[in-house]
Amino acid sequence: MNNNELIKRDLSVLWHPCTQMKDHEWLPLIPIKRGKGVWLEDYDGNRYLDAISSWWVNLFGHSNPKINAAIQQQSKQLEHVLLAGFSHEPAVKLAEELVKILPEPLERCFFTDNGSSAVEAALKMSYHYWRNLGQNGKTKFIALTNSYHGETLGALAVGGVDLYKKTYHPLLMDVLTVQSPDCFYREPGESNRDYSIRMFEPMRRKLEKYHKEVCAVIIEPLVQCAGNMRMYDSIYLWLLRQACNEFGVHLIADEIATGFGRTGSMFACEQADISPDIMCLSKGLTGGYLPLAVVATTDRLYRAFYDDYETLKAFLHSHSYTGNALACSAAIATLAIFKEKNVIKNNKSLEKCMLDAVLPIVDHPHVAEIRQQGMIIAIEMVKNKATKESFPWQQRRGLHVYQYGLKNEMLLRPLGNVVYFMPPYVIKPQEIRQMADVAIKGIDLATKN
Ligand code: PMP
Repeated sequence: MNNNELIKRDLSVLWHPCTQMKDHEWLPLIPIKRGKGVWLEDYDGNRYLDAISSWWVNLFGHSNPKINAAIQQQSKQLEHVLLAGFSHEPAVKLAEELVKILPEPLERCFFTDNGSSAVEAALKMSYHYWRNLGQNGKTKFIALTNSYHGETLGALAVGGVDLYKKTYHPLLMDVLTVQSPDCFYREPGESNRDYSIRMFEPMRRKLEKYHKEVCAVIIEPLVQCAGNMRMYDSIYLWLLRQACNEFGVHLIADEIATGFGRTGSMFACEQADISPDIMCLSKGLTGGYLPLAVVATTDRLYRAFYDDYETLKAFLHSHSYTGNALACSAAIATLAIFKEKNVIKNNKSLEKCMLDAVLPIVDHPHVAEIRQQGMIIAIEMVKNKATKESFPWQQRRGLHVYQYGLKNEMLLRPLGNVVYFMPPYVIKPQEIRQMADVAIKGIDLATKN
């Protein structure tokens, strides 16, 4: 089997995610045969460094021996059983381990099987909580512009990226939208912190005006990942937590992308010293192995559903693969690696290495900003550095960087005009430099004329 043979078969039966399939008339698909550590290899023997952790899921490398062994072991015992009326040790153990590391008072885990489904469950859970308390007027959600929470209709409705949302607008519930504290738009000389404080005002006003109708505010803490890796200061989260308390509104933290060390702490919320009422987790949860998600919440929220059956207060949300045993075993092994290898602390030197490696491009005439939050670095390509005017999207400059990367052993998948790294934590300093060198050359070429 070689690349071309598999590509031909693929294109006759598959429909790929987030893809204009016609692009593949000139943009070759890359069929991957195997992965090891940060490296992927295609059927023609070409290698690619997975600089984006396969859509931000992989933490400890492809084909990780520890996670492999855990799944193999679990598969001999039990692959899956429904989680309604039944239970299994991997689900219980994983929930126990998560409760140990989640910000207090999150202490209850509801499993779903992917990020979007976790967001759906979180929205329903919040609404249903208020209803169970007799507050039937609370039916709305507040979300930020430029946010992303998934592709199913509820998750899309609370998202704010037009590219994914606009077409489906007539199908979506109404959401109250507040301008994002995205610090790319701070004034010259203004700090991220000051800008984030200033940008909290519209959120406060929205809460003041609508809190009686609002179930929850949903946000991605610190980094709006799919929204071009835009970042804001932790003070915003702190202010939001206080305001949600004041106005009797839940705070839902979507840590699907930011969780498990991506922002430099285990969970991004820790950096603001806050805890949400509901936290959504997925992606890195299983180390990038299997689809699994958790909606973590407080005992207070849980108790509002706990009653005699006839009161019809139960949360009847379910997915067939809820708490899949193989996925839970991968997640338990992943959490064990965090502990054994002291990952969060050791990542600090990788974080510094990543920044040092991209600094040579900071003065490039088409780089508006290099921003970093922990293990995420983003480089914003612009047409005009002084005004931050962006390149027209139709020019697909990011795609040029993507193509250049592939020719140079690098899987970079820019978001629009933003080139970013979100690598597995097993990346070596030498590989970080390689990743940065390719990105720098790619950006230089992609922004010429
Ligand atoms: N929320 C955030 C913050 C995400 O980044 C994503 C995925 N990119 C999702 C939700 C949706 O997760 P999934 O793709 O597993 O449905």
